[in-house]
Amino acid sequence: MKLVLATANKGKVREIKALYSDYEVIAYSELMEEFEIIENGDTFKENALIKARAVYKALDDENLIVLADDSGISVDVLNGEPGIYSARYAGENANDKDNLHKLIDSIQAKNVTASLAHYTAAIAIVTKKGEYCVHGWMYGTALTKTVGDGGFGYDPMFIPLGHDKTLGELEESVKRKLSHRAKALSLAKVILQTF
Ligand code: IMP
Repeated sequence: MKLVLATANKGKVREIKALYSDYEVIAYSELMEEFEIIENGDTFKENALIKARAVYKALDDENLIVLADDSGISVDVLNGEPGIYSARYAGENANDKDNLHKLIDSIQAKNVTASLAHYTAAIAIVTKKGEYCVHGWMYGTALTKTVGDGGFGYDPMFIPLGHDKTLGELEESVKRKLSHRAKALSLAKVILQTF
């Protein structure tokens, strides 16, 4: 089964390809020029569906199955921020490093060195047969420092529950077993198996 990912985020594409090795997975940017998708939903679910619908429409091939991931980190001491704004926390054109350092500064401004936090992933699937969305979460601790340079995004400052190392230090195979994305993608597999 061929799945088109409605993302060009290299970290996400790498993880989804590894978790879906039994599918033919390609990023939409391998089929057409990347285009801007305005993610103006109020939830991870809405934004995942916005991305999947936009790419499904642009590809204009009803035999394709489009899968989108909308995800982010929510920090307890920041009342759940940055949440759905994780990708643009340090501004519209911010990169992963800018966002990571802005998050460290925001937590430090609360006079703590760490906070409980969690990642959320919403996975949307759009096909000619309909639209679906499932979620997964990963709980842990957000630090005010980075350790390791593995993973992507906020991984070097996040220690998953039950571990004592950041996702920047842990093997990718560990993240593949416990991540928000892995959990949502395993639910999404159940839907894909019905096609
Ligand atoms: P999106 O591409 O609009 O869904 O934005 C996702 C944001 O959350 C980006 O800033 C990512 O770096 C961050 N993010 C999502 N999932 C992860 C993850 O597994 N590790 C680290 N950062 C993540």
